[in-house]
Amino acid sequence: MITTLVTDITIEDICKGFVYNEYEGKGLFGLSGKLTIQPEYQRNYIYADGKKDVAVIDSILKGYPLGLIYFNTTPDGNYEVLDGQQRITSFGRYVTGKFAITDTNGIPRYFSGLAEDLQKKIMETKLTIYICDGSESEIKEWFKTINIVGVPLNEQELSNAIHSGPFVTKAKEEFSNSQNANIQKWSAYISGNVIRQDYLHTALDWVSKGNIDNYMSRHRHDDNITELKAYFNSVIDWVSSVFRDVESEMKGLPWGEFYETYHAKAYDPQTVSDKLKELYSDFYVKNKKGVYEYILGGCIDTKLLDIRIFDDPTKKTVYTRQTEEARNNNHSNCPLCALGNDNNKNRIWKLTEMDADHVTAWSNGGATDITNCQMLCKTHNRAKGNK
Ligand SMILES: [Zn+2]
Repeated sequence: MITTLVTDITIEDICKGFVYNEYEGKGLFGLSGKLTIQPEYQRNYIYADGKKDVAVIDSILKGYPLGLIYFNTTPDGNYEVLDGQQRITSFGRYVTGKFAITDTNGIPRYFSGLAEDLQKKIMETKLTIYICDGSESEIKEWFKTINIVGVPLNEQELSNAIHSGPFVTKAKEEFSNSQNANIQKWSAYISGNVIRQDYLHTALDWVSKGNIDNYMSRHRHDDNITELKAYFNSVIDWVSSVFRDVESEMKGLPWGEFYETYHAKAYDPQTVSDKLKELYSDFYVKNKKGVYEYILGGCIDTKLLDIRIFDDPTKKTVYTRQTEEARNNNHSNCPLCALGNDNNKNRIWKLTEMDADHVTAWSNGGATDITNCQMLCKTHNRAKGNK
């Protein structure tokens, strides 16, 4: 890969023919049409938060260096921004009046309202640009390793870069497009940020059963996302038909895995809804997120619910009572050991060698209070817990 350092391109040059697409949230072109600001493998513009974009303009006005910018030469002799897209889009948007900065007197200033010398200062600022000439794979490999100023690329953004092509383009149109009317519905089940590719990441994770890069590489040149979309919609439709209620704990659960494991099973949505309400209002259920898998699995695996356990004072009181009684009767302080016929029949266990157990299990309505607590040796407690 050959790199050439260029230091005479100004912000004014870049902003000639600057186009920003508000709808897609992308800076598109500059440098009189010679520069593509946001090639497909680039992330969406994420500086439009009134802080990072303003900071770029402040840096320019204070004469701070903007950092290195990398362009890559395309086969037709034009350029693409490899690194620097967020900064370029920020000053492009500022110069074209898309946002204001606050001046030293606290007054908002759009570019057109700036003093002429400050306008000039921005326009005449020279950028430090490396123009890279290399094969697609070289450039992408290198792109993967550079550390981008500000916000590093996340895993999915990197995968989009590595597997860029028609499939990624179409997938982003559907799953990382904040204008998509379905996002609202999906957000009940998916956590993260649309723009940062978290929804796309989830959709790919589900359809690929966790092998995202493998899936993206196989479909890289597809001109459709039919399978990805169909699978994603099947999962969403399934969740929303089994669970009628939408609770905040549903966000980000592994619905793709649940779908794979449970979608062939029939559920009555009314029974599911009643059970869900019961578990949500149960004081002993500590892990509300676990309720969904617990119900899907037929209400068996109580470990998923993280049932409230006995506190230390309760355990100590029960231990003391049991041990006293055991010494008087000359048998073990573990009631199950006492029933047996081996060497532990008379054994007095230490508190640390025992665990608290629900006499009546929580799933049979047993409470987590002192009247339902017994201490068992660890072996017996484990054996009972597994039943
Ligand atoms: Zn025992």
